[in-house]
Amino acid sequence: MAKVFIGVGHGGSDPGAVANDTMEKDLNLSIALACRDVLEKHGVKVKMSRTKDENDTLSEEIRECNAFAPDLAIDIHNNAGGGDGAEAFYHYGGGKSKTLAENILSEIVKVGQNSRGAKVRKNKNGKDYYGFIRETSAPAVIVECAFVDNAKDLKVLSTEGKRQAMGEAIAKGVLSTLGVQIQAKNSLYRVQVGAYLLRSNAEDMQKKIKAVGFDAFIVKE
Ligand SMILES: [Zn+2]
Repeated sequence: MAKVFIGVGHGGSDPGAVANDTMEKDLNLSIALACRDVLEKHGVKVKMSRTKDENDTLSEEIRECNAFAPDLAIDIHNNAGGGDGAEAFYHYGGGKSKTLAENILSEIVKVGQNSRGAKVRKNKNGKDYYGFIRETSAPAVIVECAFVDNAKDLKVLSTEGKRQAMGEAIAKGVLSTLGVQIQAKNSLYRVQVGAYLLRSNAEDMQKKIKAVGFDAFIVKE
C-alpha cells in the first residue's frame, strides 16, 4: 500500500500569512483534509502533520514524516507577497520530487488556478532552502496554492467547495505520480430491469416494480 505524508503548514499560534480576513493555517487545513480524503478513497495510507488547529513546528513535521517513511511527502501552504497563482517547490536533485510538483500543478490549473511553475529554491550552501524538502527522506514538494494577500487570487479558495476542489487536485497529482488509477467522482451503480421501444411497455414494467414496493424511473435514451 502506498504511503503519503501530508504536512499542513503552520497552525495554532502560528497563523502563517494573514490578509483579507483569512489565515493561511485555516486554508492549509481545509485543503489538506480534502486531499487526505481523496487519497484514502484510492487506498493510499495517509499521515497528516495535524488534523486540527494546533501548534505544529516544522521540525516536528519533518520528524513525523521521516518516522512514517512515506513514498511521497507534500507540505500544503498558501503564499504571501502579492503574487498571483500556484507554485510548487521540489528538491534540487529533481527526480520524483520534480515529477510530483509538475503533476500537482497540472491538476491545479484544471480547477481554474493559474500556475507560476514548478521551482527549486536553494540556500546559500547550495542545498534546498525549505527544510521540508531538505530534511525529509522521501521525495517531497511544497505546494503554495494561492496568495492570501491578493484578494483576486484568493477567490480560487473563497468557499469550502473550492478549497476541497484544490485538495482534490493536489491528491490527483499525487495519485498520478504514484501510478494509481484515478476513480471517477460520484460514479453510480445502476440497476436496469428492461429496455423497451414502446413507452407503454416501459410503463407496464414500471407499474409491476412499484407494485412490489420499489421505485422505478423511466429514462429515454
Ligand atoms: Zn506557509
